[in-house]
Amino acid sequence: MSETGIDGGAPLLTVENLVVDYRISRKVRFRALKGVSITVGAGECVGLVGESGSGKSTLGRALLGLAEASEGRITFDGRDITHAKGAARRKLANDIQVVFQDPYGSLDPTMTVEEILAEPLQVTGTPKAKAKATVAEMLDRVRLPGDAVHRYPSEFSGGQRQRIAIARALVRRPRLIVCDEPVSALDLTTQATILDLFIDLQRETGVAYLFISHDLGVVRRVCHRTSVMYQGEIVESGDTHTVTGSPTDPYTRRLLLAAPVADPARQAERRAAWLGLRESA
Ligand code: ADP
Ligand code: MG
Repeated sequence: MSETGIDGGAPLLTVENLVVDYRISRKVRFRALKGVSITVGAGECVGLVGESGSGKSTLGRALLGLAEASEGRITFDGRDITHAKGAARRKLANDIQVVFQDPYGSLDPTMTVEEILAEPLQVTGTPKAKAKATVAEMLDRVRLPGDAVHRYPSEFSGGQRQRIAIARALVRRPRLIVCDEPVSALDLTTQATILDLFIDLQRETGVAYLFISHDLGVVRRVCHRTSVMYQGEIVESGDTHTVTGSPTDPYTRRLLLAAPVADPARQAERRAAWLGLRESA
């Protein structure tokens, strides 16, 4: 897929030279993003990988208006949304949604699945009957049974809870979902089925993803293009197979070698290579 997305027009999302500083104290700031640029085309899945603390979630938060840009620009569908606040930001929730790692934290345990899924629709004044129909449609999309509506998050497994969180992200029919480590809390088998669900949903709805993960194996499975972050900067970007298959940046190579592989012999080989690289770094 081209960098400009399926239709060949301007990308859906463009991030240019984004700088984000966290305030540590009155005088001290920490620069978490040091001029990051990335694009996501309509219907595209772009991976963002990097070790813990490299700034991935900060970029996701900046897109959602939860972290403030000190410099740079974020453009969505041709509109500058870098500093969108209030009504403009609330309206953006129709277009940009998020799925976090921990579905426990993001689903209110006191609400039924129906209430959880209908809430984003009620906020926009959707009539009750229409909301109900949309909730049923989204449960079907994430392959949960219709009778799930009357149950509470605690009655579901981790993978099922993540399906509920994905359905909630989908109810407003967004064009972009920021997925921040959406499978990292799940066991490997469940990870695989949820990743397949993300792929199917993209095919069915045309939604685009910014797919954040510390795991190169995860982005390899779902992402068309991938960018690698290291200490607040993008150190490598390109077609996922090129980036994860024959990375040119030494940091990406280390990240790749650290990724788990099923075959124990290959794992041992990689581990030796990784240790060698680390020593020479
Ligand atoms: P990642 O998602 O790649 O693990 P984050 O974006 O969460 O990384 O964090 C990037 C860096 O910013 C880390 O060094 C982290 O400690 C720091 N950081 C994140 N959030 C805050 C905050 N609210 N205040 C200060 N520093 C923060
Ligand atoms: Mg993070």
